[in-house]
Amino acid sequence: MKYELKNGWNTNIDKEIVFKFAEGYKDFLKVSKTERESVTEAVRLAELCGFKPLESFTALKEGDKVYAVNKLKGLIVAVIGSENISSGVNIVGAHVDAPRLDLKPNPLYEDGELAYFKTHYYGGIKKYQWGTIPLSLHGVVIKADGERVDIKIGDENDDVTFVITDLLPHLAQEQMKKSSSQVIEAEELNLLIGSMPLSGEEKDAVKANILSLLNEKYGICEEDFLSAELEIVPAANAKDVGFDRSLIGAYAHDDRVCAYPALMAALTTEACGKTAVCLLSDKEEVGSMGNTGAKSDFLKLILLELLDKTGEAATQLNLLRCLDRSHCLSADVNAAFDPNFPAPYEKRNASKINYGVAIAKYTGARGKSGSSDASAELMGKIRTLFNENEVLWHVAELGKVDAGGGGTIAQYIANLGVETVDCGVPVLSMHAPFEVVSKLDVYMAYKAFHSFYNN
Ligand code: MN
Ligand code: MN
Repeated sequence: MKYELKNGWNTNIDKEIVFKFAEGYKDFLKVSKTERESVTEAVRLAELCGFKPLESFTALKEGDKVYAVNKLKGLIVAVIGSENISSGVNIVGAHVDAPRLDLKPNPLYEDGELAYFKTHYYGGIKKYQWGTIPLSLHGVVIKADGERVDIKIGDENDDVTFVITDLLPHLAQEQMKKSSSQVIEAEELNLLIGSMPLSGEEKDAVKANILSLLNEKYGICEEDFLSAELEIVPAANAKDVGFDRSLIGAYAHDDRVCAYPALMAALTTEACGKTAVCLLSDKEEVGSMGNTGAKSDFLKLILLELLDKTGEAATQLNLLRCLDRSHCLSADVNAAFDPNFPAPYEKRNASKINYGVAIAKYTGARGKSGSSDASAELMGKIRTLFNENEVLWHVAELGKVDAGGGGTIAQYIANLGVETVDCGVPVLSMHAPFEVVSKLDVYMAYKAFHSFYNN
């Protein structure tokens, strides 16, 4: 039989359900501009659905719904299944960090009687895309006395905004000859934050005025920047794209467009055979390292807790057995074929907008380097599962073989012994300040993850 792909809108899909799910996702994006905010919102949604902190249980039984937060930047949500933990669990793993500009430890300075923040970009960005767009500031400051100040400024209509300036075309003759990676260089990604001098101040009076305003509003001083995590993100909120409203444009679809459906799939799972685990990681965009990334032991810790609290011995042997018998959908975005820029794609193996979730058997670059390659057996299992549950899906590579490439958390989960495959939503303009996805594909991600938990 001939294998043919179908545009999801040419199937019997219910447009109303698809669009309704998209509204929930847009609401999530609105309050989840950083990994910390994503985790906070995910916990709020989980609690609304009856999930409780894992530490509040002394014993767990089938049907119990738990969550565990990893240092405010990562999260595991789980629904206890009827089978033993040591017989394996079903994991959907996504990440909630996204490319952005972090403030440097000493960010504040004045130059030419204007005040700026120095930044250090996080993750893979095209630097020139961050000039001349409205930006907002999100994050936390820990004061000398230990108090935490949450900062979130630039997204509400009456909020101020911030910007990185660029040279006018009239005087850009030399700049325009540079390669695009140097049009705006890393040390030119300086955020404009004010211009008014503090009266009576002789030196750096604009900077002094900013410090005085920050102190007034947040009670912080210059040294407090040394114990802070402040992130510059695009100020625009998620918007429908297109006359037909079929697409969503937003910052950080990568990877909240998988994190939200993964979370919702876990929150709407009632009874399952294998325990359903939704893992939301931090630091994927910089290599998954550190104690909040997917390379950390957090997943293992929580699985040991689940073994213990469900009455199994929390031994290394049981943990390894559990991992060895587990399955994971590494839920991360794929590069949707862009008719505007067809060159780096291989059309027969590229993901497509409106064709449902994209399954990537492997990622990596140049000869599958650095990739986890899912087994034919796992591909077969997922294929049958999705077909039986009317999940629209297709397979994809990230581009032409030697065109580039990228990674996900798949390899780190697979390293633990877990049968793992990448499965996520196709994105246009990935890693740009405003990325585009299809509402149909977002809903299909939810359906895919829900069927995976409930098989
Ligand atoms: Mn990603
Ligand atoms: Mn990414």
